[in-house]
Amino acid sequence: MQPQFFNIINDELRGSEKTHTVTDPRTEEELWPCPNATAQDFEDAVAAAQKAFVGWSKTTVAERQALLVKLAENLEEHEQELSEILAKESGKSVLFSFGVQLMASFDIKGAVAQCLYYSKTCLEDEVQYEDDNTKVVATHIPLGVVGAICPWNFPVILSNIKVVSSLVTGNCIIVKPSPFTPYAVMKWVEVARGILPPGVFQVLNGGADLGALMTLHPGIAKISFTGTIATGKRVMASCAKTLKKVTLELAGNDACIVCPDADLEKTVVSVASGGFFHSGQVCVASKRIYVHESIYDEFLDRLVKEVDRSYTINEDPTAPSMFSPLSNKLQYDTVRNIIEDCKTNGFNIVTGGKTQNVTNKGFWLPPTIVSKPPEDCWLVKEEQFGPVLPILSWSDEDEVVKRSNLANAGLGASVYSKDLVQAERIARKLEAGGVWINQFERPNFGAFFGGIKDSGFGGEMGKQGLLSYADTKCLHFAKN
Ligand code: NAD
Repeated sequence: MQPQFFNIINDELRGSEKTHTVTDPRTEEELWPCPNATAQDFEDAVAAAQKAFVGWSKTTVAERQALLVKLAENLEEHEQELSEILAKESGKSVLFSFGVQLMASFDIKGAVAQCLYYSKTCLEDEVQYEDDNTKVVATHIPLGVVGAICPWNFPVILSNIKVVSSLVTGNCIIVKPSPFTPYAVMKWVEVARGILPPGVFQVLNGGADLGALMTLHPGIAKISFTGTIATGKRVMASCAKTLKKVTLELAGNDACIVCPDADLEKTVVSVASGGFFHSGQVCVASKRIYVHESIYDEFLDRLVKEVDRSYTINEDPTAPSMFSPLSNKLQYDTVRNIIEDCKTNGFNIVTGGKTQNVTNKGFWLPPTIVSKPPEDCWLVKEEQFGPVLPILSWSDEDEVVKRSNLANAGLGASVYSKDLVQAERIARKLEAGGVWINQFERPNFGAFFGGIKDSGFGGEMGKQGLLSYADTKCLHFAKN
């Protein structure tokens, strides 16, 4: 039976006269109609959230955390259904390395783990100053209604971090998924009805217009946005009109530095995952690989073999694979153009490179590796967000750090070396919100995550991330 989808406002299912469909990235067939939220739906959702906030903001942390456990149980109950929907809309497939499991369920399992982590973690009151005359206690109070504006690459897990952060701190939340991947998020909010008071957790489907309305509405206290740098700048400018709190999680162009003493066996496997897991459609994917010149040829040879072995195109969505089609036509065309640009400029493509008739159907591109393209080309300068990876070489530590640090991005980075002193020294010099040592970039929901420079504004995850979902109020007690 064809699944149905609804906007969820005050726990009610709402259809719409206008719907849109998403193209299945594997088959290029149109999926299911999804109702577009109207301006009135949005107004109703804000009113319901504001009403719900009155009671919800007075609940205790323990009460809210107990409900996060229920949300986790509910997600687990619906894991199969949600994973299948997510696989269809995103092109994700079965993930081999974690047992036979839908790669899409990586999103759902991650969301369960986030719910459970925050069911045990929250902001606590803190004595910030004390002397003989005074004691100052900082306490954290909810902001009100949070608007979550989300991207398409990990639809559930990236929405859920905003949901759990909002809920545990006592806020209400309206989620707007990406119009490229609305289905799993909408179904998830639908199946979660009844767990939280009506109006606390709502979802509306829409694109840039709805996102823009959210950023302007005076009834929304904070926008948590994940997406491109260009949209992030628009969101921030718009939020300024009502002085909303704003968190921006934006694009990265992560450098990965491989030192001459790196354990090549492990490093090659890890760098391949960092670059090609979900076909590079990961904000913190390794996007520029800098390999020391003394091991360059051997590294490249091993990497090509590993990529050709582990990142093959498999059109069967139930087959075990970490490699997917591009999730949508827009991104498919962008990445094809980047590969075409490499060809036009005569760069050395050592594997992949095909951009036409790769398969009969679907937005597939083969994993593509480009050896030593110039530093100022499109592939190196900008985020590719797809399965094409430049492998550059270096000889001097200061020089590679300089090349790694970009003016227009600073999300993640990675360093591979057996010498942990050297690896840490390099990591501390890299201008990024997170640096991973001897592993590819994997955000940890217990650790603060945010980009510097154009890659973000503020951040989420861990206790520090929760601070952006609260106002801090200081209580000054006179002691005598
Ligand atoms: P996008 O900026 O195109 O869209 C993101 C969201 O913003 C969508 O929901 C979209 O409908 C909405 N939107 C579009 N215009 C808007 C406007 N004017 N006002 C308000 N909302 C608007 O990004 P995308 O293509 O969906 O996501 C991919 C990008 O996200 C990549 O660059 C990736 O690196 C980045 N990303 C970053 C992180 C991170 O944590 N830093 C995580 C995942 C993805």
